[in-house]
Amino acid sequence: MGCSAEDVAKAVRAVAAVVAEHRVELIQLDRAIGDGDHGENLDRGFGFVVAKLDEATPDTPAAVLKLVATTLISKVGGAAGPLYGTAFLRAATALGDAASLGPAEVTAALRAALGGVVARGKAELGDKTMVDALGPAVHAAADAQNSVASVLDAAASAAAKGAESTVPLVARKGRASYLGERSAGHLDPGARSTSLLLRSFADSAAGS
Ligand code: ADP
Ligand code: MG
Repeated sequence: MGCSAEDVAKAVRAVAAVVAEHRVELIQLDRAIGDGDHGENLDRGFGFVVAKLDEATPDTPAAVLKLVATTLISKVGGAAGPLYGTAFLRAATALGDAASLGPAEVTAALRAALGGVVARGKAELGDKTMVDALGPAVHAAADAQNSVASVLDAAASAAAKGAESTVPLVARKGRASYLGERSAGHLDPGARSTSLLLRSFADSAAGS
């Protein structure tokens, strides 16, 4: 992801493939502490995203992310659709009409995405949600400003650790919170998917 609109679109297609690959894993994680739809929701949503990208590639990185956002918001139910939709929408807004992205832009987009998730879902660190992956990712990104690849690699590594940190936690937001103490001992599906998305973006950036 060097990072033109075309690079970002290619990275989003790679994300869709990763989500499809991990569909069953995400379903199983959500079955343990939720209703089992997380993998299905995301896979369907990114399927629609790819179909839209097949029609035409938007002409700025922000427009690509906005297409992702509007598609996830309109096509994906559950908590994660609107949350990821808001994340991509805020990221798009942060990018403005930039034709190409550098480390500062990508970091600003990540920060805006986190702001969107928090504004919408009101989760704090430690509530056992995707914020436990995205929050540490934003902090790590800020300290890795050499290149887009280094920003996303740092973000993805921090997100993976953050996702793992949700295992012992008791959920305080979303469906898993209905389980109370019984939600402890399981990886949060949304934190896991956030970690997968960021690792995929990082792999795309490293490959270009
Ligand atoms: P639903 O819970 O409606 O079935 P999904 O299964 O698609 O939606 O997504 C569940 C994930 O959404 C959780 O694992 C958690 O990471 C995330 N989530 C739920 N509520 C919130 C919230 N208020 N803030 C941030 N993330 C949340
Ligand atoms: Mg669910």
